[in-house]
Amino acid sequence: MVGSAIHRKLLGLGYTNFITRNSSELDLRIQETVNEFFETERPDYVFLAAAKVGGIWANQSFPADFIYQNIVVQCNVIHSAYATGVKKLLFLGSSCIYPKLAPQPMKEEYLLTGLLEQTNEPYAIAKIAGIKMCDAYRAQYGCNFISVMPTNLYGPNDNYDLQNAHVLPTLIRKFHEAKQNGDPAVTVWGTGTPKREFLHADDLADACCFLMENYNQEGLVNIGTGEDVTITELALLIKEVVGYEGDLIYDASKPDGTPRKLMDVSKLTNLGWKYSIELKEGLKQVYADYLNPSSLIPHP
Ligand code: GDP
Repeated sequence: MVGSAIHRKLLGLGYTNFITRNSSELDLRIQETVNEFFETERPDYVFLAAAKVGGIWANQSFPADFIYQNIVVQCNVIHSAYATGVKKLLFLGSSCIYPKLAPQPMKEEYLLTGLLEQTNEPYAIAKIAGIKMCDAYRAQYGCNFISVMPTNLYGPNDNYDLQNAHVLPTLIRKFHEAKQNGDPAVTVWGTGTPKREFLHADDLADACCFLMENYNQEGLVNIGTGEDVTITELALLIKEVVGYEGDLIYDASKPDGTPRKLMDVSKLTNLGWKYSIELKEGLKQVYADYLNPSSLIPHP
């Protein structure tokens, strides 16, 4: 989802000389393969969007995969980028790097000031290691490697799996299927009270290109809207967009996760960037894509 959104954005900005690989063409977990790729292709600019990602259930169920795959991929790519003289690399992290009970909204300097949320700690530890790698390669070798922290994302090419995906695409599918089947209710995990912030992948891609062109410092930059909704509010919005008439029921056996993770986006705003796709508008777009997947631009 993120890689294809960045590619679309760069195409729109007029860039042409791309080197892309999907995971079946290049396994970023194999160090030798990654070294060979960088030595042969010699990219100048790298967007490191590749990651093992998933929702709250997937993170709890496959903690070893989340910590191992993310650490090994970023180690291989960041080190090869250094070794082959990449001019600039942008590493994508996540808002879950911040402490579970961080003051809201969360500023960049809250990194490593408290305990992490248990449900995705292995993933968060991997992403924190990625930020620190970028900073360490900058400090020791002078590499222009930057880190950005997106909030919860959604958009074309999202994962709609009922178990493993994030809340927004999963609820789109649940409401759509309930409408089709005439089901009386849709199940929402947890209590519905946690708050989450959602950013369209096209806005994220726009921010990444902006930062690739304009930001050259250590540390991290939050990317979000600066606004959040409760899971119940999200569910009601999706219900409306899908046109479902039934009820919501809550499954309290499922975890809520962190109570809130709203980004403080003032650093990015002060640099001159702001999101443009409002949540309701974005939901309408992705629901249209969901209904007509052939309208999507294929993954490069
Ligand atoms: P998180 O942001 O890392 O906690 O990951 P998720 O996007 O998976 O979950 C966000 C919140 O949505 C949590 O409080 C979940 O319990 C809640 N949620 C409600 N219904 C669902 C659902 O059907 N799938 C998922 N993944 N989360 C749900």
